[in-house]
Amino acid sequence: MKLQIRMGKVKIIEVGPRDGLQNIHTFVPADKKILFIKKLVACGIQEIQIGSFVAPHAIPQFRNIKDVAQGLKSLKRVVLSALIPNERGALEANSCGVKKLIFFFSVSREHNCRNVGQTPQQSLKELQRICCAYMPDPSITLRVDLATAFGCPFSGKISTAAILRIVEKVAACGIQEITLCDTVGFGNPRMVEEKFSACLRLFPGINFGAHFHNTRGLALANTLRAYQTGIRSFDAAAGGLGGCPYAPGSSGNVATEEMVFMFEEMGIKTGIDLKKLLYVCFFLHKTLPKAKLTSSLYLAGLPNIFDKGEISC
Ligand code: ZN
Repeated sequence: MKLQIRMGKVKIIEVGPRDGLQNIHTFVPADKKILFIKKLVACGIQEIQIGSFVAPHAIPQFRNIKDVAQGLKSLKRVVLSALIPNERGALEANSCGVKKLIFFFSVSREHNCRNVGQTPQQSLKELQRICCAYMPDPSITLRVDLATAFGCPFSGKISTAAILRIVEKVAACGIQEITLCDTVGFGNPRMVEEKFSACLRLFPGINFGAHFHNTRGLALANTLRAYQTGIRSFDAAAGGLGGCPYAPGSSGNVATEEMVFMFEEMGIKTGIDLKKLLYVCFFLHKTLPKAKLTSSLYLAGLPNIFDKGEISC
């Protein structure tokens, strides 16, 4: 098979403060989270998920989400988003000044019931109510994340047809940005191509994004295949932090610095300063000594030929 790489810019969305921290048992105070996010902004990252507006008992790590949002209000030139599982989360996020709301639910019924306590159909009804309430406000953007889109630890394989049925219903709500999430790292490049190419073909007006975990070491391979299929928006977490508290065996997100390194070395612009990003990893290592940083690039460092250009003999 001949691969044709269409060059172009990509948008990397940092999910470390949300997906990365939600699986860490050590509670991170608001001032540390705010510093982490400000350091990410200084790297040139344009969009950052700052946390989730979920019930504190569900994910205690986010019990200080309102303080974090408050401490970031003065930040400019960056889109700060937060996850919301329901209308109450949307209301709280909006009242804290968060302008990009990410509603999430699982394609898999069982995972959704365990994760947010309702069926995907009930989540879709919730989404309709959120759209009615917030879409008329031009300052608010809504994105939908479809979890377990590449497989579920409880229900197994997820068919492309099942994803398309859900995407159709989400698109019918007026949502223009949908991310397919490989919550537990079941995806492989062939699956990625099949699902994204079907989505792009049938819903050309939707801006699809990819969210991969490196549970089985295929996150970067999946990222590249998604890029080759036409995807230009990718979630990633600094240091490879990450996981899902309700997805047994899930591990870190694809590391932001590895994704930046791969794209930039291929001549695909990310707008992110890689050296500054590695300092952010060092900051995480110092601030969260118990957190597992799975990034190979952080552990190995940049190659000593990085940035030196080519030598012609
Ligand atoms: Zn995730």
